[in-house]
Amino acid sequence: MNEQSKPVIPKAYNGPKPQGIIPDIFIQDSFSKDDDRLWVPLSPGRWSRPLCFNISQGYWVHLTKVIGGGFLSRHRHPAPVHGFVIKGSWRYLEHDWVAKEGSYLFEPPGEIHTLVVDDDCEEMITLFHNTGALIYCDENGNTIGTTDVFDRVNAAREHFVKVGLGEDYVNQFIR
Ligand code: FE
Repeated sequence: MNEQSKPVIPKAYNGPKPQGIIPDIFIQDSFSKDDDRLWVPLSPGRWSRPLCFNISQGYWVHLTKVIGGGFLSRHRHPAPVHGFVIKGSWRYLEHDWVAKEGSYLFEPPGEIHTLVVDDDCEEMITLFHNTGALIYCDENGNTIGTTDVFDRVNAAREHFVKVGLGEDYVNQFIR
């Protein structure tokens, strides 16, 4: 290889950071196959792996994992959701599409849907960016429960304490 064909390594930015910038989050292995303790159990066969709890803007980013299939929840969104399917498949009873590995979805504010994982799906993993809250509802749309980023922080903290990671472990995900 002669001198001219070598790839040019760009220079890193070395200047000042904006005042007040908060720390980034980098998670090398978000699947955490070798440490099940990082998956917060939400109900039988269902886990949430926290990636970012943004309490200053009211959203959370996490991996949802479902093993064994079944009904997950019926809920309404007061604010937008983005999702990206990493493994397996699932669907909403209110739509005619099936979300599969590589699928992206945007759920608009006001949407009510019922998430099911069919029995032929061994394991489903989907990244969700949830803003605001999940408002759980019955089939008539009546509210029967809610969850928001603060509930998720509490659930994660309690779980991390229980599995021996300590009550401060959750802080690395909070911004
Ligand atoms: Fe949803």
